[in-house]
Amino acid sequence: MHFPEGRGGLGLSPGRQRVVNEALREAGAPWHDLLVNPIGIGMGAPTVLTYGTDEMHDKYLKRIFTGEDIWCQLFSEPGHGSDVAGLAGRGVRDGDEWIVNGQKVWTTLAHLSNFGMLLVRTNPDAPKHKGMTYFVVDMHSPGVEVKPLYQITGEAEFNEVFFTDVAVPHSNMLGDEGEGWKVALTTLMNERVALGGGTMPKGKGPISRLINTWQQRQDRLDPIEHAVWQDTVTQLWIEAEVLRLTTIRARATAKAGNPGPEGSIRKLASAELNQRIFNACVDLDGTDGMLLTEGYPMTRPGEDGETRVMHSSEWEMLRARANTIEGGTSEIMRNILGERVLGLPGEPRTDKTLPWREIPK
Ligand SMILES: Cc1cc2nc3c(=O)[nH]c(=O)nc-3n(C[C@H](O)[C@H](O)[C@H](O)COP(=O)(O)OP(=O)(O)OC[C@H]3O[C@@H](n4cnc5c(N)ncnc54)[C@H](O)[C@@H]3O)c2cc1C
Repeated sequence: MHFPEGRGGLGLSPGRQRVVNEALREAGAPWHDLLVNPIGIGMGAPTVLTYGTDEMHDKYLKRIFTGEDIWCQLFSEPGHGSDVAGLAGRGVRDGDEWIVNGQKVWTTLAHLSNFGMLLVRTNPDAPKHKGMTYFVVDMHSPGVEVKPLYQITGEAEFNEVFFTDVAVPHSNMLGDEGEGWKVALTTLMNERVALGGGTMPKGKGPISRLINTWQQRQDRLDPIEHAVWQDTVTQLWIEAEVLRLTTIRARATAKAGNPGPEGSIRKLASAELNQRIFNACVDLDGTDGMLLTEGYPMTRPGEDGETRVMHSSEWEMLRARANTIEGGTSEIMRNILGERVLGLPGEPRTDKTLPWREIPK
């Protein structure tokens, strides 16, 4: 709703989005349709809006929101996840094009994507944060190879992506040459806001699963267990409600484009809360919690007619392990909050001013 009119939005205040989402849910719109393009909507669109030319706005934005173009984020590499600024994938200028070689990893939805947000090293002689450039890459370009990576749940929602002499037009550059880190920060800040959770109605989302499980299971508990569990469930419900209200407050003040480091608060809190909620559900399930009722099918989201909307608590508990890793680990979120929100001294960064080429690999 808060994107410009004609470019995917209606130019309204961000708070209106919640009203629309709730109306869609109440009307029975399947949740997976709302989330069909999470990386495009949550991260690609704000980055293109902030750094793209008018031509790029026209070309990309609307199709992200209609779901015609799924997007993926090509940042992480083997050895460069938290330290993404140290990445090694190379882009070399050749006339009107950049020739890209390297490997990306953990690339969510790359197998469905038409476009990717690509960060590559274009100047290895500059310090690591200064020598990267950001491009929009057509995922169907010759030389792009996508291979599935299966997760603990059996699902392969992410991939390895290999680039072999991939030609990316110079006009696909977002921001300036060597300014890729600045552009990437916009993507990452928006990622944390997106992962920090949508604005669910009160009592909905993961906490509703716990309340349902509690209602079904509480009669089987002895009085002492019952009292302890009642305390645990109540505490988690309170934390979920505090998180929901914090999310609404932050969304109401958000501007389209560039959120601040505060997004990390909700990312950190929701990731850790999700794990505790699903751990509690599985514990309450007792011995049933040892079974994965889905079996172990190797599925790919968006393929094989994959339309399942509800997973078991056991599946969700396994998937929630990723919550404190994806979009930046909880340790990294604490670093960001300590340094950029609380103003505490930064951790020592001995490689910050060295030319990237000279950093020990
Ligand atoms: C489900 C899922 C989906 C993902 N999707 C994408 C995607 O679409 N695109 C993409 O580019 N990436 C994606 N990622 C990758 C994700 O961003 C990285 O996994 C994450 O940033 C951590 O990097 P790493 O795996 O290399 O771990 P490492 O950086 O090697 O971290 C290993 C451990 O060291 C700790 N650590 C590292 N540095 C510090 C530090 N400075 N201070 C304290 N502790 C530290 C970490 O917290 C962690 O516990 C995804 C990951 C997951 C799990």
